[in-house]
Amino acid sequence: MVYNNEELSKILKNMAIDLGASHVGIVTQETLKGGPPSTDLDSVLLGAKSAIVFAVPFDEKLIDPYLAKKDFSLNENKIHNTTFAGGISLEIASFLDQIGYEAVPIAPNFVYRKDTPNGIRDRKPIISHKYLAAASGVGFFGHSGHILTKKHGAAIVLSSLVTDANLIATDPMKKDENYCDECKLCKASCIPNYISDEKIKVNIGNNKFEYQIPKSHWRCILVCGGATGLDSSGKCSTWSPGRFTLPKKDKDFEKLREKAMPAYVKREKIDPVFYHPGVPEHKMQYTCSTCQFICHPNKKTRIKRYNLFKKSGVIVEDEKGNRKAVSPDEAEKIIEKMPKDRQALYTD
Ligand code: SF4
Ligand code: SF4
Repeated sequence: MVYNNEELSKILKNMAIDLGASHVGIVTQETLKGGPPSTDLDSVLLGAKSAIVFAVPFDEKLIDPYLAKKDFSLNENKIHNTTFAGGISLEIASFLDQIGYEAVPIAPNFVYRKDTPNGIRDRKPIISHKYLAAASGVGFFGHSGHILTKKHGAAIVLSSLVTDANLIATDPMKKDENYCDECKLCKASCIPNYISDEKIKVNIGNNKFEYQIPKSHWRCILVCGGATGLDSSGKCSTWSPGRFTLPKKDKDFEKLREKAMPAYVKREKIDPVFYHPGVPEHKMQYTCSTCQFICHPNKKTRIKRYNLFKKSGVIVEDEKGNRKAVSPDEAEKIIEKMPKDRQALYTD
């Protein structure tokens, strides 16, 4: 079968939606022109002409119980839907291959450049799904730096594939479709204070996008990645049982890593994990993502989710790795009663 560019673009967009995506877009060399290095399609496939990018939503029913720290099931849903999104990229790339095009699927997460000074430790993505999603109208950049979709907010995973098929680009969203009203609840819920007020502006094609300039990535890596999670106030935590003191300065987060990561590796992990190439023993469990799951198109829902999180107590863990949320005072008592070697798994 031979299709013209419009027909093929339509088939591929329908395919993404039929396979389980909620939003889909197409970028081309032209619409990505002048963008940052992680919009260079040739670095994935020499001679690439376009890329398809799409969002897969997480299960919204699981968000409130997760933020209230009553049920950790959203973790498993996140792992499964992320893997599923990568599967859609593979399905579309295989389909394109079978009808005579070159196509390379890009997994949603943990695909880094190897040609930077520290290789994958620099965590520079080969392709930024977010830039592709903003340029093609899958969503828009919120203050947090997440891509916000009109229907599911930031509670989505992005995936893409690059191809030498000449596809028809989709338009970015219009400014008035952007629901981000700078409520900054994402920033207010960020325990390690990773999200800043300053903005970075990015030009891609004929469009300008902006979002917050993050502080040291180690702030989010150590907290969202599960090494530690207690707020400096002691009154709120992520799903991590880690209670290491959070430093104020960026440079001290690297020192925190030396203390918190060995303890993280020794702790039992009985819930499902992602496999990350750059983490010791490779098992990685997101215990936060709060900025992502709070952000919903409806502001009332955002505020409700923020309050659920702030009042959800703090996490403690037993010797088998079972976690539960308790009051801050109760957590102190539980930690005090632990033998010193167990305390060292969680505290300074
Ligand atoms: S939480 Fe508020 S400020 Fe943050 S990205 Fe969402 S809408 Fe924007
Ligand atoms: S995932 Fe958690 S630690 Fe990372 S930026 Fe969001 S709120 Fe902050």
